[in-house]
Amino acid sequence: MTQSTPRAGRTIACPTCDALTPLSSGEDAKAACCAACGGQLFTGRPMALTAARFDAHTGQSDVPLVIDFWADWCGPCKTMAPVFEALAAEFEPHIRFAKVDTDAERELATYFRISSIPTLSFIHDHREVARVAGAMFAGDLRRWLYDALSQTEDKETAAPEPEPETP
Ligand SMILES: [Zn+2]
Repeated sequence: MTQSTPRAGRTIACPTCDALTPLSSGEDAKAACCAACGGQLFTGRPMALTAARFDAHTGQSDVPLVIDFWADWCGPCKTMAPVFEALAAEFEPHIRFAKVDTDAERELATYFRISSIPTLSFIHDHREVARVAGAMFAGDLRRWLYDALSQTEDKETAAPEPEPETP
């Protein structure tokens, strides 16, 4: 049996209310609920990230974060949106998926020096470990996520085994 549960002492920020919930050793993060609002800590869907929520999810939550910087007028962003959403369900609880609306969150877009969209930024331990610009298909995006995850050096949050291609 593969040990895929988080180590003791991991703290996860809630995608709904941003409260921090400590997880005990062996606790299934995917089934765990927020200590404050009772919502699921992992919903299988990307969360909307704002400047106000930024610190809880990048500075205090012990889960790598991938951010999709997008805008409503951006065609490639809309093409990639369902891909990003499907991979959120696949990679949680190893990675938290978030979306930043660059029109509404200019402060964050400036902070990240976003010059084109879509841009994906992968953050772990307060630092950006990977970044890529341009829309990607599911296969490329999945490979990029595994790559970024392998750079987090946190063996306890090792990526799930890739699903074999169905014949
Ligand atoms: Zn909550």
